[in-house]
Amino acid sequence: MLVKVIKNYNLSFVPILSIINANEKNRCSCLQGAFVEHIAILQNLGVEASPIRLRKQLQGLDGLVIPGGESTTIAKLMQIYGLTKTIQELTSNGLPVLGTCAGMVLLSRSATHPESSSGLDTIGAINIEVRRNAFGRQINSFETNISIPALGEEPFRAIFIRAPIITRAGAEVEILARLEDGTSVAARQGKVLVCAFHPELTDDTRFHKYFLELERRPSPPPTLSGEGREVVGG
Ligand code: GLN
Repeated sequence: MLVKVIKNYNLSFVPILSIINANEKNRCSCLQGAFVEHIAILQNLGVEASPIRLRKQLQGLDGLVIPGGESTTIAKLMQIYGLTKTIQELTSNGLPVLGTCAGMVLLSRSATHPESSSGLDTIGAINIEVRRNAFGRQINSFETNISIPALGEEPFRAIFIRAPIITRAGAEVEILARLEDGTSVAARQGKVLVCAFHPELTDDTRFHKYFLELERRPSPPPTLSGEGREVVGG
């Protein structure tokens, strides 16, 4: 009975990871981080959501959202605040996590950048490789309707802002959405859900609803396997 009460309580509590907010100096970065919009959507769906920055706040969660922003900055702050390892442990133990744009980059197994050869310390919660800023700079940001069959027939308005793409995915990864040219832009492995676009910037709550439903699924085996298959262009 006690377990059930705790479980019910936890179910209504899905904090948002907003590490950018942790450092006064980087406060402006949280504007592009769009975590406020994530909170608004989740609250609309009846979920209690709040920003977190300290490691101790990572305990007792039912889900985590890593928002957009600048993945290199977020990665550094995660290291400074000692969050990376804890998040790695939590996700490999089946904690549902949603990563949007920079969040997808951080959850990936590895990330490349067209203009930089220096790597990024990613969490590796989903067996995908990504290419950061794959469409170019801010000016090349765009919106388009995409099909996400897992969300139903109605197209989803996807907003891409200096967005990454998925270039490889392991066999255990389900590609959820592609652009017309076949480029993969959303994926799921177990309870890890990622997308290259910003569902929190639309009025469409279906992507977040889908994320919340992952909580109820049985946990998959916690593995990252193999080199993955090429998914760009088809
Ligand atoms: N280009 C950013 C990065 O690689 C992501 C942009 C975003 O989250 N909107 O970190």
